[in-house]
Amino acid sequence: RWLESVVPVYRRATEEEFQLVNGNWKYGSFFSTLLTQSNLYLPWIKRKLLIDGVTFKQRKLNSLKELTGEFDIVINCTGLGARKLCDDRRLVSIRGQVLKVKAPWIKTFFYGELDTYVIPGFHGMVTLGGSRSFDSENIRLCPYESVAIRERCETLVPSLKDAELLQQKVGLRPHREGGVRIGEGNIVNNGCSNKTIIVHNYGHGGYGVCMAPGTAIATVDTVIEFHKATCSKI
Ligand SMILES: Cc1cc2nc3c(=O)[nH]c(=O)nc-3n(C[C@H](O)[C@H](O)[C@H](O)COP(=O)(O)OP(=O)(O)OC[C@H]3O[C@@H](n4cnc5c(N)ncnc54)[C@H](O)[C@@H]3O)c2cc1C
Repeated sequence: RWLESVVPVYRRATEEEFQLVNGNWKYGSFFSTLLTQSNLYLPWIKRKLLIDGVTFKQRKLNSLKELTGEFDIVINCTGLGARKLCDDRRLVSIRGQVLKVKAPWIKTFFYGELDTYVIPGFHGMVTLGGSRSFDSENIRLCPYESVAIRERCETLVPSLKDAELLQQKVGLRPHREGGVRIGEGNIVNNGCSNKTIIVHNYGHGGYGVCMAPGTAIATVDTVIEFHKATCSKI
């Protein structure tokens, strides 16, 4: 019901739409929404940031304090890595597996029961899912799970039987009991007369792509609050 106010179209599915799927469905929702695909979006946004003069440095951290001498503001977006960096016991992995198939005839997405979903992407690639294994960090593909996902999706949308398998993927969702850690941080005295603001933004679970625009704004607001607090103390 929350979606109703944020998406352009949200209504009851019609009898005609039920014909697109298998099964004796009595109720369904139809809605339109925005689609993004991280393997296209992330290189695009990185290129845009590089053009704007942003520099990227990559390294493994054992502590966030390693950054405080070097930077004025640290925004911690380390997902499951925050379990160690922040000693955050609320973080837990929810493992997920998906298949990518070639099925350019699929034009709408379908969500069924038991985490069964069919999401058309770009260039005729369709994502078939899914699975949710709480507290599993096994990043190896499970062939039985792939068969089960394919079977569930084909039962829902029978035309997928003709789809060619392109890829199989496993990922770990950085789930956090109690929700995303935003609006929190601290100010660290970095040894000189300067201070570093550390603000957190992690624990997006299975919704990080769609939530990121909102949590990023909330995080920047928190940085501004901390900045004002630091300035007033000086
Ligand atoms: C199967 C599956 C399906 C999904 N479907 C959707 C969907 O439909 N819609 C949606 O919105 N979301 C979806 N998600 C969830 C989404 O992928 C995540 O919420 C999102 O990727 C989290 O992004 P993040 O940047 O917070 O964390 P991550 O992507 O985990 O990034 C954390 C980064 O921090 C780095 N890091 C961690 N520790 C350290 C350290 N000590 N030193 C240096 N670097 C460190 C890591 O290397 C990594 O680069 C799905 C996830 C899975 C697995």
